[in-house]
Amino acid sequence: MKNAGSTTSSRTAPALTLADLAEGNLAAGAPPLHEPYWWDAAPRPDIDHPSLPSKSDVVIVGSGFTGLSAALTLLDKGRSVVVLDKGVPGFGASTRNGGQVGSGNQKFRVKNLIALRGEAKATALLREGTRMLDYIEALISKENVDCHFRRCGRFRGAMRPAHYEAMARDMEDLKRVAGVESFMVPRSEQHTEIRSDRFYGGSVLPQDASLHPGLYHSGLAARVAARGGTIVGLAEAKSIDREGSGYRVTTEAGLIDSGQVLVATNGYTDRLFGHLRRRIVSIRSGLIATEPLDPGSIDELMPGRRVYGNTNRVFYYFRAAPDQDRLVWGGRAARFGGLKAYRHLADDLLRVFPDLGRVGVSHVWDGTMGYTYDELPHLGRNRDGIHFAAGYCGTGVSRATYFGHKIALQMCDDPEGGTAFDDVSFPTFPMRDVAQFAVPFAERWYRFRDAIER
Ligand SMILES: Cc1cc2nc3c(=O)[nH]c(=O)nc-3n(C[C@H](O)[C@H](O)[C@H](O)COP(=O)(O)OP(=O)(O)OC[C@H]3O[C@@H](n4cnc5c(N)ncnc54)[C@H](O)[C@@H]3O)c2cc1C
Repeated sequence: MKNAGSTTSSRTAPALTLADLAEGNLAAGAPPLHEPYWWDAAPRPDIDHPSLPSKSDVVIVGSGFTGLSAALTLLDKGRSVVVLDKGVPGFGASTRNGGQVGSGNQKFRVKNLIALRGEAKATALLREGTRMLDYIEALISKENVDCHFRRCGRFRGAMRPAHYEAMARDMEDLKRVAGVESFMVPRSEQHTEIRSDRFYGGSVLPQDASLHPGLYHSGLAARVAARGGTIVGLAEAKSIDREGSGYRVTTEAGLIDSGQVLVATNGYTDRLFGHLRRRIVSIRSGLIATEPLDPGSIDELMPGRRVYGNTNRVFYYFRAAPDQDRLVWGGRAARFGGLKAYRHLADDLLRVFPDLGRVGVSHVWDGTMGYTYDELPHLGRNRDGIHFAAGYCGTGVSRATYFGHKIALQMCDDPEGGTAFDDVSFPTFPMRDVAQFAVPFAERWYRFRDAIER
């Protein structure tokens, strides 16, 4: 293999290397930038004084994929739309994620989903997952968004021989129930997929995809603006009150009256909308990006340039960046420790690709995902008529895009807005604040179980 230890950098001092980060030698090189790599190509806009219209047909709280996708559909239906965000537009998970585009169908083993929901409902949910992938592809193509969307396929590496067998059975069920194509790669052949001996073989879902989340978000935002929608950053919604037949939304940037409100805050849901807050727990995930590797190295390490993950309960996920030959690696987020909080990501990366110790780390960042008690995403409206779509449980690139579109159609009473998820009740988390507090402890417990499992 070629030297995969390049530390090419535009900075003067050599970057902190993966080996130093993994070992905790944090002063050994120039520190990485503490913001998403995706913001290099898609910088967040500067905002001085947010200016808010006084009224709109629809106010959307949250400017991620859910909010922007809903805005596009509502604008196409002739509604005026204002999208609010408490940070800069796209501050949340939508510009911080790994850019892996899946159907969400791997959240459950198929047999478990059938046991929970019955065969007919499970089939409908799984088939809708596949439609979400098709929808995002069609939207990107129709809107001509240049965001490196590619049906690259997903390799999921088995961490134990038993995981491989279980995955093989699950892939057969997925094919039988929902018609999803896949194939298994035994350990003896896995170098055709990934130049690593870390896994006991793996599965490939050829239809899964990848994109550049920053460019996808900027592209959607530009299309919303081009259709006359308004996106206002630094405009935290503080309250939503009934006002006549509509709503008054009080924000940091002033008041706005609207006929309808959509809350699209997912993992960033705060006390604004108790209905969602009682049903969502926020879980952080961290990512690191490396400096560019030597030309050819990525093609040797990951010949298909797929998106990758593993089978642990607390799993990691990785890929090559689409615009440069860097690795983007994500996983559990440690809560404290500044740069030290990313040590375990470098450590996991080097267990998969041990030759990359001398590669520099260019970026570290994290973001927050919204998890639901039943591990399904939900959309609908509460008793006050406020609409919501959220709870993508870490698979939100396609699902947020699709749910944004569907909830917008539902807001227009369009029967095309119906989904298999509509009649699935949205459970609250028992003792939600305790559950939120317990997340890091639960993660540690699951990590321990991953480590001792045979
Ligand atoms: C680190 C990370 C990696 C991920 N990787 C993947 C991946 O590879 N593939 C995948 O499919 N999914 C991934 N996800 C999940 C995916 O990114 C999300 O599910 C999806 O982006 C959610 O989009 P959204 O629009 O619903 O929410 P977000 O993009 O999180 O947007 C919510 C917005 O609401 C705003 N907000 C909150 N409260 C208020 C308020 N009161 N007033 C105004 N604004 C408010 C926030 O500032 C935020 O910008 C990842 C998530 C994270 C955090």
